[in-house]
Amino acid sequence: MRSIMPQITLIEKACREQRPVERPYRETKHCLAVACGEGMLLYHTMTGEILLLTQKEYTESMTNPVLREELIRHWFLVPTDHDEKKHADQVRQLALLLDHPKKSINHFMVFTTMDCNARCFYCYEMGRPRTVMSRQTALDAGDFIARQCEGEEVTLHWFGGEPLFNASAIDTIIAELTRRNIPYRSHMTSNGYLFDDELVLHAVRDWHLRFVQITLDGTEQVYNKAKAYIYREGNPYQRVMRNTGLLLDAGVHINIRLNMNGENVEDVTQLIEELGQRFRGRKGLSIYMALLTQFTNSSVHAFEDDAIALERMGVLTDRIRELGFARTERVEVGVRRNNCMADNDRSVAILPDGRLGKCEHESEEKLIGSIYEEKLDEKEIALWKEFLRCDDCKDCTAYPVCTFLKRCEWNAGGCSVIQRRKQMIFLKERVLKTYEDWKNERMARRMDKEGQTYEID
Ligand code: SF4
Ligand code: SF4
Repeated sequence: MRSIMPQITLIEKACREQRPVERPYRETKHCLAVACGEGMLLYHTMTGEILLLTQKEYTESMTNPVLREELIRHWFLVPTDHDEKKHADQVRQLALLLDHPKKSINHFMVFTTMDCNARCFYCYEMGRPRTVMSRQTALDAGDFIARQCEGEEVTLHWFGGEPLFNASAIDTIIAELTRRNIPYRSHMTSNGYLFDDELVLHAVRDWHLRFVQITLDGTEQVYNKAKAYIYREGNPYQRVMRNTGLLLDAGVHINIRLNMNGENVEDVTQLIEELGQRFRGRKGLSIYMALLTQFTNSSVHAFEDDAIALERMGVLTDRIRELGFARTERVEVGVRRNNCMADNDRSVAILPDGRLGKCEHESEEKLIGSIYEEKLDEKEIALWKEFLRCDDCKDCTAYPVCTFLKRCEWNAGGCSVIQRRKQMIFLKERVLKTYEDWKNERMARRMDKEGQTYEID
């Protein structure tokens, strides 16, 4: 048995080692077992530890006394009457008390415009006013960012609509921050259509663009139909593919979101292979699957059975990993404080008219103030921090790391089977990523040893 990821330091301080005593034990509910080439990976969602057991060790884990004792010490086995949910809550609260995060706001999601050059059928902004950020609001937003960040580096996430549809607002805010010597870097959610050689150069050099998320709905014909761009000429799919290449060449990380539903699943499967052929071996590209769900009942659009949709999503996610495009996150190495920007005190969304929000999907309601007000709506901010909880939480493997928000529109119908299964697929991916990195580091150390350097393993 080997520990390939230690416990999260603050959690370790909060829960300490469990001393084995003479009493019956059972497996913890907070363990995700993932098969790998060398046996079985056991990920403890409360402590953050990952153990690697050979297949033989895994089979003997309850009967081999030495192994059993180790698993008890590391909380993988717990007393049969142990209240794990309560324990996970206590450990988390204590760990958070030991943590002292900074308070200044350093992440700003800026909606440069609500207008867009595409007309996706599933767009949640459909029917909302297409407000555009004026030059004056951009100047005031720059001033607000400079006041809030307290001199720290800021991340500006350009959002919309299509943020490049109002690139001058980006230029204005960047100029304001540069004038005040505020360090910054940019991320963007864009359909990627409007980039060209010149804009890529400008974005990297002047906006410090480091990351772009682009959504694809299928191969050429399916994509062009789904996006329904306002332009009559040209081939949007080929254009976005070209721009993805230009951005990668310029060192920008591209995260492709593949929207999947019952109608395009076969095509998305083909698209993954196409992306593999086009970009295989290129650094800085990641791909992830997203299920297009109905806003009304959270079921997957045009799939008869959600379980089938989830299974397909799992298979395609595995294929993406095989191609080397899996999202690069390992399991958490710190206590997970937030779900997303909505419950993060260091994040805020600036709307085109200067109003402030917490969630990228809420541009009209549940707002928390504006760039022109000193005080923010604390009551509203607190409501964004409420976690979603339900009866199933007590038996859920993901409970210690589950930060689903009650207010998030994806959870409007409570914790759905889809949400739960998706969470498990992503956790599994993160465990495997952590394992892959551990293996590569181990290999590098071996090679160092052969080169007469040093050996840690
Ligand atoms: S995924 Fe659902 S059941 Fe599991 S902990 Fe989160 S809210 Fe509870
Ligand atoms: S609350 Fe939900 S929709 Fe809003 S930013 Fe968070 S995850 Fe996204």
